[in-house]
Amino acid sequence: MTSDPNCIFCKIIAGTIPSVRLYEDHEFICIRDIQPQAKAHFLVLPKQHIKSLDDAFPVEGRDQTELMGRLMRIGTLVARQQGLLPSGFRAVINTNHMAGQTVDHLHLHILGGEPLAGGFGR
Ligand code: 5GP
Ligand code: ZN
Repeated sequence: MTSDPNCIFCKIIAGTIPSVRLYEDHEFICIRDIQPQAKAHFLVLPKQHIKSLDDAFPVEGRDQTELMGRLMRIGTLVARQQGLLPSGFRAVINTNHMAGQTVDHLHLHILGGEPLAGGFGR
């Protein structure tokens, strides 16, 4: 399994940085975001160090279509388990710097637990 010793999320996965884990299996973990932007805000991370969607679907090389399907599934299952369904939640993947990706380890944000502001982008 690929890992980057300088990556904060790889350190969380390894347990060297603490986190509140809501879910874990062989392929993913789900943690509470440290700076929640909604009443409920958690992140689903593949344990494999994939930098972004850009790297998940490269121009050449291995494509992560099946892993991305399973990532969305875990986000939805945890959202349901956390009581965010059927009322609803928002799923977001910021990709690279112009979208505001600050941690270069692919992660799915799940936000909810209260009505969310509408709109995207600026
Ligand atoms: P991005 O901006 O890359 O889409 O999202 C990164 C997210 O990771 C942010 O919402 C930020 O609050 C969260 N985050 C950054 N460092 C940590 C950490 O050490 N622990 C946890 N649980 N979340 C973190
Ligand atoms: Zn990483």
